Formats: sequence, structure tokens, C-alpha cells
Amino acid sequence: MENPQIADRLDAFASLLELVDSNPHTIRAYRRAAETIRGAAVPVAELVRSGRAQELRGIGAGIDARLRELVETGSIAELEELEREVAPDLVGLGRYLGLGAKRSVDLARNLGIRTADELREAAAAGRLRSVPGIGPKTEAQLLEALSREGEPRPRQGLLLNRAWELVGGVAAALDGEAAGDVRRWRDSCEQLAVVCAAPDPPQVLARFAELPQIVALAERDERRAVGVTVEGVPVELVITEPERFGTALVRATGSSAYVAGLEPLPDGPDEESVYRELDLPWCPPELREEPFRGEPPALLGLDDIRGDLHSHTTWSDGRASVEEMGRAARERGYDYLAICDHTPAVGAVRGLTPGDVRRQAEEIAAANEVLAPFRVLRGIECDILPDGRLDLPDDVLAELEWVQASVHGGQRMPRRKMTKRVVAALRNPYVRCLSHPKGRYINRRPENALDLDRVFEVALEEGVAVEVNGLPDRLDLSGAHVREALRAGVQIVCSTDAHSMRGLGNMALSVATARRGWATSGDVVNSRPLEAILGGRG
Ligand SMILES: [Zn+2]
Ligand SMILES: [Zn+2]
Repeated sequence: MENPQIADRLDAFASLLELVDSNPHTIRAYRRAAETIRGAAVPVAELVRSGRAQELRGIGAGIDARLRELVETGSIAELEELEREVAPDLVGLGRYLGLGAKRSVDLARNLGIRTADELREAAAAGRLRSVPGIGPKTEAQLLEALSREGEPRPRQGLLLNRAWELVGGVAAALDGEAAGDVRRWRDSCEQLAVVCAAPDPPQVLARFAELPQIVALAERDERRAVGVTVEGVPVELVITEPERFGTALVRATGSSAYVAGLEPLPDGPDEESVYRELDLPWCPPELREEPFRGEPPALLGLDDIRGDLHSHTTWSDGRASVEEMGRAARERGYDYLAICDHTPAVGAVRGLTPGDVRRQAEEIAAANEVLAPFRVLRGIECDILPDGRLDLPDDVLAELEWVQASVHGGQRMPRRKMTKRVVAALRNPYVRCLSHPKGRYINRRPENALDLDRVFEVALEEGVAVEVNGLPDRLDLSGAHVREALRAGVQIVCSTDAHSMRGLGNMALSVATARRGWATSGDVVNSRPLEAILGGRG
């Protein structure tokens, strides 16, 4: 058995475990093991046979046992059982309707059904309540959900990277355009839509239903369908005549308030012609939140970005070395990359002591020898302690070329205390940028109680910038807060906070979030050349 085959089987196992709501840690472990095996330079089957598989990163005793079963027998018994039992389309539809995966599997087993259509039939025939655990109340809820009209919404918004992967993938497969919240780059996407221009709608509908991402159709009309992913996330497909494609795209992209502000919409084959008919300039999707009929500014573009000022390496919790990160940034066409590993107070992961900072300087100098004229900057992501002091002494910070200040622990502080804490850090003369100012994790942790008006006031006085962190679950500042920062005259930095070479790719998310805050390249510190960065505070 070759490495890619072994990896595929582990991935399939992870997906099925996910379907039956297994422990997320287990699922992640299988996914990581699959990734390791796919990238392994040696034949993993041989390692397994010689009892050395656990030398590979991320492979513990549990996965090792599965691997042995797979290599010796050609299959994993539990995986085969799951494959027999679990109907992904039922699980997807069940989740969309508010049923857990286990419930959906129970339904399937008890009613002997395998598809979403059979579920609908069983519901219509009143057979649902014959299933143990499904009472009249759950049955009524299901029937109601099955007949639900109106706008399909996932139970929880999707993170932007996942939403792009899903909607972008569907759009590409159908030669359509991604629309809805994704095209506006909202931080949490609920309205997921794809618009297709096609003279033959039934053919597109059939292709849609057969996409691997779509496991069931929740609704289906002549020119519109709602597909459901295995996670129960609805994706709306709109099919239009080619001569009205622009109109449909404008309508499916803007918020309802924005679209209402343009009505009545003329027919047009593309967006440009629709806006022209309206006698308006074309409007970037990121600005289509509030009603707006004016001239949009020349928004920041990904091409304006000259470097990334927040990244991690194996010195703290990153996965690549200084040189690897620098090389990857250079390959993206940047002029510079700041390495900003953590300091000890961060707690959960390794942080750099003053001694480490100086040892890392040698490694950075060596990388610069190799990568010149590209420049790796000596930076730090320095924790802001609860009392507002920084986690490294000033003489160490003074050596560095870029200092990010970050609140990590103690985020539940009351507003006055938190604001005082952050303001004190901004007063430190070596701090250049406040990282992820609001400290939120989208859908998981609310924003810190922080008086942003006061923070912007002090940041402006001190010439400190605020970050637009591009991690998909942060996107912090948000678009709305970027707009407030810019109105206050504060500069922003678009950063990825990359923990791997691939993580540098999140710059697109940061830039789009800045665009949602109406940022132009003049507002962004890292749209400037290296000399400006080295020149000190703005
Ligand atoms: Zn951080
Ligand atoms: Zn960081």
C-alpha cells in the first residue's frame, strides 16, 4: 500500500467519524496523521511493518494500531462498518433540519432509509414517530423544518476561509460566481450563494446536486435550489438567463439594505452594465453593506502589500524556521517579513526570554545573508501584562525592529482596567502595533471590553498602528472597527499572524477586512517600503 492510499483511508475515516460526531480531537489527529503520511519521504507501510510508525510526527499508539490493521489486512473494520451505516446526505439534511448526526443515523437505521428523499417520504407518511427517541414534538419540528420557506441559513455562520473554500469551490465547478456574504468578505458567513448564467437550468441543477460538496437538496425550483453540505450548511444556487446575469449577481451579493437602495435594478449581462444603467460607478462588494450610491474610494489591494509584520516560527508556536518563513514571504513577492514570536507570559506555548531573543537574532542574521535583499526583521509579539507593563525589558525591546504588543491572558477584565492596561502598553516607546485589539474569536469568544475610542486617541498621539489580524477566526480589527480607526486618523497594519508558510496566505483575508473598513493603501503601514518601517513610529 502506497502512502497516498493510506492517507486517503485515514482521511475517509476522519470524515466518517466527523459525521457521527466523534471526539473532535480524534478526528483532528487522523487528519493530521493523513497529512504527515502524504508528505512522508519513506514508505509508511514499511515503517508500520517494522514497528517504527510512531517515529512519524503525530502518530501515536492508537493510530499506529489502525495503520497496522490497514497494512496487514488491507482495510480498517470500523471504517468499513461506518461506510455501510452512515448516509452522508441524510446526515447533512438532518443537520440542516436541526438533528444531530447520531439521530440521523438512528433514523436511517430504524426506517431503513438511505437518502434525503426517502426521509421526506417517511416524514410525509407519518413514520418518523415510530423511531425510538422521536416523539411527536421532534416529529412536528422536523416536518416544519422540511417545509420551511424563505432564506436558508446555517445554524452558525461559517468562518470566511471555510466559506470561500465551499462557495468558491461550488462556483468554480459550475462556472458561476460566488455571491452572498462570501463575496462581501464578511467575517462570519451566513448567506452562501452562487449565481450561474445558463441557457439550460436543469443541466446546471443536476450538476449542482452531484457535486461532492453537496450531499442533499433541501429545496429545488426551476431556476433555484438549496443544496446542503454534510455539515448541514445550506448553499443557494441561482440560475439566470445570461442577459440578466449582472442583475442577479448584484442582487445575490449585496446586503438586503444595500440592494434595496439600488432598486429598481435594470437588467444587465454583467455588473458593470447594471451600474452604468443606474448611472453609478461600480461598487466593490466589500462596500455593499449599507445603502451607498456614491463614488467608492480607491481601496487597498493585495498588490499594495510590501511585507508581513506578524509571523511566528518554531521558536514559539510556529511550524517553520526563520529562513523557511522568510523564503516563503519572499516568494510571495514581499520585501520584508517580521518574525514576532511570543514572550513567556503567553503561557500555553513557549515564549522567548531576553536570551532567546538574542539567540534568535543570530538566526535572523544568517537568514538575511541568504535571502538578501529581502529582509527578515527582528520582531516580537510581546505580551501586555495585566498591569500594562510589557513582558520584556525595554533594553531588549530597543534592539528590535518591530514590536507587536498583545493581550493574551486576563481578557475578562472590566472595561476601565482593560483600557488602562492597553493604553499603558501603547505609551511604551518601542511598541509599533497593537495586535488583534479586540481579542475576539469569531463564534467562540466575545470581544474584550476595551474602549477603542480611547485606544485610537492614544495610538494617534504615540504613532502606534493597530492590526487587522488575518487569522480566519480573528479578523480583528473587524471592518467596522477599521473604519473607526481610520476616521480617528490611526494607521493600520494588515498582518497574517502566520504560524506556517501557508499561513502567510491569509493576507487576502486581512486586506479584504481592511477594505470593508474603507482602507486605502495610504492608511496601511505595510504598504510602505522597508525604510519606512525601519524609520520608527509614524
Ligand atoms: Zn497573539
Ligand atoms: Zn501572533
